[in-house]
Amino acid sequence: MSHDPNSRKLLPEALRRQTLAVRAAVDRSQYGENSEALFLTSGFVQESAESQARRFGGEEEGDTYGRSGNPTVRSMEMRLAALEGSEACMATSSGMAAIMLMCFSLLKAGDHVVFSQSMFGSTIKLIGSEFARFGVESTIVPQTDLDAWKAAVRPSTRLLFAETPTNPLGEVCDIAALAEIARHAGALLAVDNCFATPALQRPMELGADIVMHSGTKYLDGQGRVMAGALCASEKLVREKFLPVQKNGGMVLSPFNAWVVLKGLETLDLRMRAQSALALELAHWLEQHPAIARVYYPGLASHPQHALAMRQMEGLGGAVVSFDVKAESPEQGRARAFHVLDALQVLSLCTNLGDTKTLLTHPASTSHGKLSEAQRQAAGIGQGLVRVAVGLEHLDDMKADISRGLDTL
Ligand SMILES: *Cc1c(COP(=O)(O)O)cnc(C)c1O
Repeated sequence: MSHDPNSRKLLPEALRRQTLAVRAAVDRSQYGENSEALFLTSGFVQESAESQARRFGGEEEGDTYGRSGNPTVRSMEMRLAALEGSEACMATSSGMAAIMLMCFSLLKAGDHVVFSQSMFGSTIKLIGSEFARFGVESTIVPQTDLDAWKAAVRPSTRLLFAETPTNPLGEVCDIAALAEIARHAGALLAVDNCFATPALQRPMELGADIVMHSGTKYLDGQGRVMAGALCASEKLVREKFLPVQKNGGMVLSPFNAWVVLKGLETLDLRMRAQSALALELAHWLEQHPAIARVYYPGLASHPQHALAMRQMEGLGGAVVSFDVKAESPEQGRARAFHVLDALQVLSLCTNLGDTKTLLTHPASTSHGKLSEAQRQAAGIGQGLVRVAVGLEHLDDMKADISRGLDTL
């Protein structure tokens, strides 16, 4: 649980996000450490049997066992909640564990979920296949077609789940419009905010009920740990997520929480710097003769450019994808592989949100387990390359990508 009422009282009201990113956390320990403490412990010694009984009964604040809470994990939860503008937050062991916890907590057999066909591959598999085994129904809609979202809603719809911008094509959906559809349907709107992060986009301000994160990506920001989180109202976190988390155990390790906690301190700087580099790289890629198309919300050529700029503080995020020119899917795959295999500086690595620039081939990795039809529907071609832009010098990035592009 994110809220430690005593420590939040120590900070004055109305601090800005940049300040909260380095200041919001649980109170200092008795040693007065300036950098937030790492409480690497699975259990907590109890002062008395009476107090222990009250803590287990929920009548007294205080830690008992790592599956129910840890001060370092709580620090990370409080800081992320402060950045997202949510009342509370619950950290999880990975981004997928956050989606698992959300679905487990909110859905039962017969309930219905609407989500977009452009969502993260594992998200589509988890809800569309795994939860379907337990009788949870779902409808997959085109990301940007609001009428399709509206039409998919049924009386049994409990959840609308959107990701914006999407991986890897950067498709953007209108969060405020989806929140309106969800409200009319009596359903909740959850938004996967991995790609924009609260530095650029705060879905709660636009009416979302739940913000889901893979902390593995930009929140850590340096490719070190797996982590996840759900930001939501105090009521949702306390009444829905906490009981399932306590019994289900998808908890975040204190060490990983500490890494993400410190990562959040530089999130704003990194997102702005990496977005600026991504925009320059996207402009350069767009005029390269070996490239058919560039996908980046920051480009004027992007179909939802205006919406993206309105929703994301005028920035496009740090992920750029491009299609190499090719006559057939086979040639596209061979050419994309050639670009990836020619890299000498940037990493061929299926992650994103790192200070190191990472390139991948979505059709054979993140979207490799989808059927060809699902992949086609999501617009993931064999010639598609995703670039998760890091912090190297722009000229070195261009030179490294040119090695393959100029020798096709
Ligand atoms: C990586 C990712 C996830 C899953 O997060 P993990 O931490 O890898 O479990 C979910 N959604 C998006 C958009 C992602 O990029």
